Parts: sequence; C-alpha cells; structure tokens
Amino acid sequence: MNSFTYARAQDVQMAIAEKTSGTETKFIAGGTNLTDLMKVNVENPTHVVDIRRLPLKQITETESGGLRLGALATNAETAYHELVETRYPLLAKAILAGASAQLRNMATNGGNPLQRTRCYYFYDTATACNKREPGSGCSAINGFNRIHAILGTSEHCIAVHPSDMAVALTALDATVNVSGPNGERSIPFLEFHRLPGDTPHLDTNLGADEIITSIDLPAKGFAEYNTYLKLRDRTSYAFALVSVAAALAIEGDIIKEARIALGGVAHKPWRKPEAEATLVGKEATPENFKLFARELVAGAKGFGHNDFKIELAHRAIVRALLQAAKKEALI
Ligand SMILES: Cc1cc2nc3c(=O)[nH]c(=O)nc-3n(C[C@H](O)[C@H](O)[C@H](O)COP(=O)(O)OP(=O)(O)OC[C@H]3O[C@@H](n4cnc5c(N)ncnc54)[C@H](O)[C@@H]3O)c2cc1C
Ligand code: SF4
Repeated sequence: MNSFTYARAQDVQMAIAEKTSGTETKFIAGGTNLTDLMKVNVENPTHVVDIRRLPLKQITETESGGLRLGALATNAETAYHELVETRYPLLAKAILAGASAQLRNMATNGGNPLQRTRCYYFYDTATACNKREPGSGCSAINGFNRIHAILGTSEHCIAVHPSDMAVALTALDATVNVSGPNGERSIPFLEFHRLPGDTPHLDTNLGADEIITSIDLPAKGFAEYNTYLKLRDRTSYAFALVSVAAALAIEGDIIKEARIALGGVAHKPWRKPEAEATLVGKEATPENFKLFARELVAGAKGFGHNDFKIELAHRAIVRALLQAAKKEALI
C-alpha cells in the first residue's frame, strides 16, 4: 500500500494549483483507470486531486453549430445525450462499444482519452517496459504481442491506445480544450495522442500541469453515413483488436467526403487525411474501399503474434465503409 494525500478541487484554478504544487500529483475523475493502475503499482502518485465535482459536466451547443462535451460528463451521459445520438451517432456507437454499462456510468470524457495502454507488460512491474520505466526496454517486441501495434511503432514501444471514444473523436475532427498555469488552449484531436518514437512514456501532448475542460465537436456530424466497427475476442467487455470509425458524406452514388480512423493498431487513433482525399469523387464500391484500405494501412508491420492484424485491418476498413455507405446496422 502506497500512501498518498487527497484534495478535492472546488474549481479549475484550484485543480491546476494543486497539480503544480511540486509533488507527484494525479487528477482523478471516474477513477476507472487510475485506481486500477495504482493497485498494481504502475501509477504511484503522492497526491491525488479529485476533480469529479468541477462544473464541467454540461453538454452544450457551440456558436459554430457544434457541440461542447464537458470533461466531467460521463461516457454514458454523453452516448445517450439526445444531440449526440441524433447529430453524432458515430460517437455514441463508439462509446457504447467500450467497457461495460457500469464503467461507462463512471468514466468521464476527459479521462477516457487519457486511459493508458493495456499492454500486458506495462501492467506487470516485474518486466521491462519503456513506457512505465523509460530506458528499461520493451518486453513486447520479442514477447507475446498479439494485441500490439502494426502502424507507427518504434524500437522503443509497440503499444496501442485502447480508447474507442478517441477513435470516433479523431474521425470527427474534434478538439480538446485544456487549461493550465499559462492559460487556455485547444489541441486538435488528431494531434492529441503521440506516436511512441523515443519518448513512449508520453501518451499525449497534454502538458503535465494541464487539465482537460471540454471536447468540441465541429458542426458536421456525418449523422447519415457512419459506422463504428469493433473487432475483438469477445463481443462485449473487451478491447479492440482492430476498430474502424467511418464517416462518409454521399450525394447520389458519389462520395463527397470521407473520414476514417482506426483503433487497436497504433499508439494513437490512426488516420490519414491524404488517403481519405483519394475517395472523394468515387463511388462507394468494394474495389474503391480496398484501394483506400491499402493506402491507410501502407507500411504496416507485424511482430509475430499480431501479424494477423494487418489483413484484419484491411478487411475491417472495407466492411465498415460498405456498412456506412449502405446505412447498415452492424451484425
Ligand atoms: C474492465 C475494463 C474494460 C474496459 N473496456 C474498455 C473498452 O472496451 N473501450 C474503452 O475505450 N475503454 C475501456 N475501458 C477503459 C475506460 O473507458 C476508462 O478507464 C475510462 O474511460 C477512464 O475515464 P475515467 O474518468 O475513469 O478516468 P480516470 O481513471 O479518473 O483517469 C484516467 C487518467 O486521466 C487523467 N484525467 C482524468 N480526467 C482528466 C482531466 N479532465 N484532465 C486531465 N487529466 C485527467 C487522470 O489523472 C488519469 O491519469 C475499460 C476499463 C475497464 C476497467
Ligand atoms: S509495448 Fe510499450 S507499453 Fe508494452 S512493454 Fe513495450 S514499451 Fe512497454
């Protein structure tokens, strides 16, 4: 048992001040990831700041016609919110594909994208892991790596980001709003998570002293043609081996816009806007989607146990895009 001190933040400024107080401080929101990591000694904060009661729970329309999701609204409140269900069904589907009803009732919109990898070695303090202990090595590269990344890996880490919600937010071009000692700023979701490179201990570009206050969705929600396809070992309560958030704008038979992000394949939701541009002006056919899949997954590399993910990703992309184009419910 590691002892730690506890404070409950009354407002955002107090939360930031507590975080910059000089100790090894962590915010706690729903606590569904942080407490698990504390129990296995992967996270060892000396001070925990409870942000759960901050007034950041609202889901409101923005002046630009989009939606602002409060960082402390729960995943359940968000997925079942009328405006999310009707205008951003892709996001609702992705959230509901994750975890369990009980977990979604606790998990928050700020905590979800900040949950940490499910790499087995990251959780096992008896093994080497550059993410947990920089410089110690990566046990997964030559170990059991069935759930690991095939894209954007480095010689230091091949972990994947486990969030489903983040995959949809990436496809939807969301923005993360944060506050810190130097004021407020916004980070495009596409740039929020990082590739491992030689700093695998850093999951995101959020500053150490910053707090997420909200997430903005742009006006365009791709409510008509979208799908979230999640492939996993069990049909519930399991993380994605490969997932696809697909959003299309179609007029007649022609694709006018395409946004596709992959989960379960990289250290961040994987998206390539330049590949999406190749779909514009084309018909929604299996052949065109296969060509696109080749572009999106180009350069993929397996590490043995996870080689199957390369073919799985190609097939999942084609299936998700066909389902989105036909407005088909998922099987
Ligand atoms: C058994 C199980 C199955 C799961 N399955 C899935 C799944 O299939 N798909 C999926 O996507 N997720 C899944 N999850 C993960 C779950 O969705 C996350 O644990 C949850 O979303 C984290 O949110 P939280 O509010 O509980 O975060 P917390 O645990 O409170 O915090 C997580 C991290 O974020 C930081 N933090 C939290 N809020 C803020 C903020 N506003 N600003 C700055 N930092 C902040 C904390 O300091 C901490 O480091 C599963 C979890 C469990 C336990
Ligand atoms: S893949 Fe990343 S998280 Fe997993 S053992 Fe290697 S360094 Fe650690």
